[in-house]
Amino acid sequence: MNPKTLIDTHAHLVSQKGVARTLRDYCKNPREKEKWMKFSNEFQINLTKEFSDRWINSANKYGIKKIILNSMLCTNDELLKIINFNPKKVKGLAYIDPNWKNLTKELNRLLSNKNILGLGELGPMWTHVPPTDKKWYNICKIVSKYNKPMLFQSGTQMYAFSDFNLGNPLTYDRLIGDFPDQKFIIAHGGKGFYREALMLGEHHENVYVDIAEFFLGLKFLPNEVKPHEILKRILRIYGYERVIWGSDSIFPYSKNPVRYYIDQFKKLGLKQNEIDHIFGLNAEKVYNVT
Ligand SMILES: [Zn+2]
Repeated sequence: MNPKTLIDTHAHLVSQKGVARTLRDYCKNPREKEKWMKFSNEFQINLTKEFSDRWINSANKYGIKKIILNSMLCTNDELLKIINFNPKKVKGLAYIDPNWKNLTKELNRLLSNKNILGLGELGPMWTHVPPTDKKWYNICKIVSKYNKPMLFQSGTQMYAFSDFNLGNPLTYDRLIGDFPDQKFIIAHGGKGFYREALMLGEHHENVYVDIAEFFLGLKFLPNEVKPHEILKRILRIYGYERVIWGSDSIFPYSKNPVRYYIDQFKKLGLKQNEIDHIFGLNAEKVYNVT
């Protein structure tokens, strides 16, 4: 049952600077500002080789061969710094906001780096720029030249500044349809918007789904549904070659990030080959990580 290769495609590097950026750019609600200030104090991290090694040691404990960190809550330079300590083990997804100035230059700088495997976790939910906006179209035009995927946030997220309407995977429908050669990954299996994530997967072949903590949206469903039953539906539409595992962890791995998913796959009676794809082989192909 142990997967052939394990790649954590959805892990977060969280830094004080990253949290401060979120606070500055997105958070308008004073009560929430206070909450984020407290949150930022928990992430006074030193970006040292020792810090990076500790992370890798905890990954090794669970058999995780590579980690793809996303910079939603750190700066891109911090991300690059941490990758450079262990570039064989750690790769990254760069974060951008469509409202940034000098975005074209920044995109080219980041995407031309071989250790930056794509963009993520992108958040129309926080930036309030809908995926139908021409700003996202301009970004896609640049990204598609690099043949690197884009990981988009989906589902609910309990911050007052999030716009839940833009967490609905169907808001990406036109963008995905208009860039058929660009790979898109919808995070968290839709996290509550499962049906919409399924519709999207049936509509477009160039969309993949990551199942990092997909179960967090189950409470919004009208009926009691078991997590493996959601996975069963996801697999029915996407097939095992378009489903990608990730943990949604923040350093360090506080619990076994793999076990839960193995248990769900056992309930579904998945074959070894299918498990191998979900845990690593698909990531190797989609993110072009070797
Ligand atoms: Zn995440």
